[in-house]
Amino acid sequence: MITSESESVDQQVSTGHLPAWGEVESLTAAAFERYRRLDEGEVADYIPILADADPSLFGLSVSEVNGATHDIGDSGHGFSIQSVSKAFLYALVCEAHGHAFVKERVGVNNTGLAFNSVIAVELNDGHPMNPMVNAGALSTTALMPGATAAEQWEFIRTGLSAFAGRQLVMDGEVYASEMATNSRNKAIARLLESYGHLNADPLETVDIYTRQCALLVTAHDLAVMGATLADGGVNPVTGEQVVSPEVCRDTLSMLAASGMYERSGEWLFEIGLPAKSGVAGGIVAVAPGKGAIGAFSPRLNSAGNSVRGQRAIAYLSRALGLNLFASHATPPTERAANDHRA
Ligand code: GLU
Repeated sequence: MITSESESVDQQVSTGHLPAWGEVESLTAAAFERYRRLDEGEVADYIPILADADPSLFGLSVSEVNGATHDIGDSGHGFSIQSVSKAFLYALVCEAHGHAFVKERVGVNNTGLAFNSVIAVELNDGHPMNPMVNAGALSTTALMPGATAAEQWEFIRTGLSAFAGRQLVMDGEVYASEMATNSRNKAIARLLESYGHLNADPLETVDIYTRQCALLVTAHDLAVMGATLADGGVNPVTGEQVVSPEVCRDTLSMLAASGMYERSGEWLFEIGLPAKSGVAGGIVAVAPGKGAIGAFSPRLNSAGNSVRGQRAIAYLSRALGLNLFASHATPPTERAANDHRA
């Protein structure tokens, strides 16, 4: 254990500001323009209906913590949220059960294996390991408040809608297509159950998880949802406090560690932002205290991340000064007298 909750102290935050509105607007347009013709990557097809997506779609949106938004391209086009939901599910469960409980039950460390790996569960004594892989997302779903599966589903749909600032609806065709082909997720849920690590019915849990993955969102929605995590849990458009600032911090640390599948390390190294992607081509990237970027384009790289989305976010991370790890040297004239360093 690195720290315990009893050691926590009141925290100041370390963030900054976005450039002026007009500059964010023109850089969002520049990012879109740069990558709109890039046609590398393949549309996902392991969920049959996703193969029908139009590969030319590309939407980009930036949402600022002051409520301003910047939208370009197909930023209003609906697509299934898929694994991007895991980020917001995790936030809702942390809000309901607290930091220590969720850390112990779901975990916070990487598996080093694919997001839908069965063997990762076996190798870790039946522990789901982290909330961004399917095993962890299934246990997160099972921990949702609610006396019945229907109540849990409604809690999730309402919670994700609060992040988006509008009522989200499920795409019934995506749900049916995935339910007909998701034997692997059912196997993972059964395996967690066999270890005593799933406190709900496995097939009901898979059903709810599949519904939440089929919720329809837009790139604009993802930007607003991410900006809520960047804004201490307050939706910057509606003003609603959706989760606490501590939950946002915990959620963003998980996205930084494992939000971009097995390329999470490379993503953090190159782009320096917590982010989560999904197989329908959505990505949300969050700049704490500043805002968030939502991107959608269905062509994916071999790790399952949207090619245009990644490139556009990488550009904006640099151009808007979002990389969490970047700093400039302090000018010599601003340095404190250094007699204490002797
Ligand atoms: N519903 C998908 C699955 O469970 C989500 C995958 C993803 O977006 O990573 O396989």
